[in-house]
Amino acid sequence: MRFDVITLFPELFAPFLSAGINRRAFETGAVELKLWQLRDYADGTYRRVDDRPFGGGPGMVMLAEPLEKCLLAIRQDRVLKNPLEKPVPVVLFSPIGQALNHDGVEKWSQSDGAILICGRYEGLDQRFIDTHVDAQVSLGDFVLSGGEIAAIALLDAVARLQPGVLNDEGSHQMDSFNPALDGLLDCGHFTRPEVWKGITVPPVLMSGHHAEIAKWRRQQSLVLTQKSRPDLIASARLAGKLSPQDEYFLMSLGASGLVESKSN
Ligand code: SAH
Repeated sequence: MRFDVITLFPELFAPFLSAGINRRAFETGAVELKLWQLRDYADGTYRRVDDRPFGGGPGMVMLAEPLEKCLLAIRQDRVLKNPLEKPVPVVLFSPIGQALNHDGVEKWSQSDGAILICGRYEGLDQRFIDTHVDAQVSLGDFVLSGGEIAAIALLDAVARLQPGVLNDEGSHQMDSFNPALDGLLDCGHFTRPEVWKGITVPPVLMSGHHAEIAKWRRQQSLVLTQKSRPDLIASARLAGKLSPQDEYFLMSLGASGLVESKSN
């Protein structure tokens, strides 16, 4: 899979590509990433990529022309490298887009990739968006100063889903939101020492009894999800992912629906 990123700040991506577990995905080419400096596609001595908004108001707007030139260069490059590839979608990071979630990440992780556009200033000339952008993706209901962090978030989440990237192949299966499992939140985790600041690890985790440990983790997951994201419990129920034992346990949580658990 190949992602092309249009950005005014390609240097922001370097530390992310060379650090941590995801480095493997980019080094092995499981996720191919090509960064495109938008300014290289701007004309004139100053290589302008932005201008004042028509109608007045604060800030600057990204020019359509360099964006289109860069996009066409990417399309050409992709066809040269892989003549059989179907054109991949153009994704713009924007606060008005659809919020990124597990389903979105999974879809991109099984795709041929995309062309990602990182906005800056007040955003892009709307005519470019209307002409070329297939999807707008948001990181959440807040405003960033640029789309680079959103692009890195998407690439990070996609990279860790590639086979062989995480040390423990199965570990992302257990992560929060995984609908293949149940879509519930992950339970709390504990490691050495057994007692830290006088706080002990839940004894069941030290028991070596795998079935009991699995049951405890499942219950913790149910408690935590019921407490913070009851909507995910409802979705899991609808999808038939809650067993009679799960339902019984949820009922036993009582009217408040909560068993206080400091570890979560
Ligand atoms: N005027 C715009 C904000 C522009 S912020 C508005 O109010 O909607 C500059 C750029 O940062 C945007 O073009 C976009 O690419 C990026 N950005 C800002 N917030 C974002 C978010 N929540 N998710 C994804 N990208 C975002």
